[in-house]
Amino acid sequence: MEKVICMSSISENVKNILSKIPSDVHLEVAAKTRNTSEIEEAILSGARIIGENYVQEAMNVIPLVKNKVEWHFIGRIQENKINKMITLFDMLETVGSLEIAKAIDSRCAKIGKKMDVLIEINSGREIQKSGVMPEDAEDLIRQISQLQNLRVLGLMTMGPAIGSEELRPYFKLTKELFDSLKDKFPEITILSMGMSDSYEVAIDEGANLVRIGTKIFGPRDYSKGQG
Ligand SMILES: *Cc1c(COP(=O)(O)O)cnc(C)c1O
Repeated sequence: MEKVICMSSISENVKNILSKIPSDVHLEVAAKTRNTSEIEEAILSGARIIGENYVQEAMNVIPLVKNKVEWHFIGRIQENKINKMITLFDMLETVGSLEIAKAIDSRCAKIGKKMDVLIEINSGREIQKSGVMPEDAEDLIRQISQLQNLRVLGLMTMGPAIGSEELRPYFKLTKELFDSLKDKFPEITILSMGMSDSYEVAIDEGANLVRIGTKIFGPRDYSKGQG
């Protein structure tokens, strides 16, 4: 009995979010620490994009999920994991340096894959956070567009770990950057920002991809995750 109740709530949460967000905004289910049956429940309820943070966890989960969905990587990219990442994922959302972009490019060349990526913007200018500084994003994208095996499709940002309304300026800044880059690079169409507590503010500020975990699955138990 308990299992049925638990599963239907994932389903209700996904359907509820899908009914609330505008039709031009895509839902990405942030699935770190969640198991295959939880992810499949979200997919059966209409989720089409799944985000994973850890390569090891993704290796355990992705081959078991039979439904065809898009898999996005939203964690920190480690160079020694790139070979696995490029076979597992359809999009890498957290490219923040030319060094990492080149490493992805050379590995993609070997397997003949063209990788879709987003550029992670360090919108809070936090030294401990990954992502490129907003003023350096255009140069970085220009350099990455020289690489044969990467396709920059948009921007992603986290923003500082603060309340949802306080995140608004960081989303606004990223949207302004997105608009200016969109004019210069026609392939740029995706703006990934907003999580469980902030997706409404993010959509308000122009996000068209929101990454939601807790509001779908409930609080995370990190002892179940890997990484
Ligand atoms: C975990 C995570 C999310 C989702 O966070 P919730 O607060 O659980 O919705 C979104 N984006 C990234 C990059 C994450 O790591």
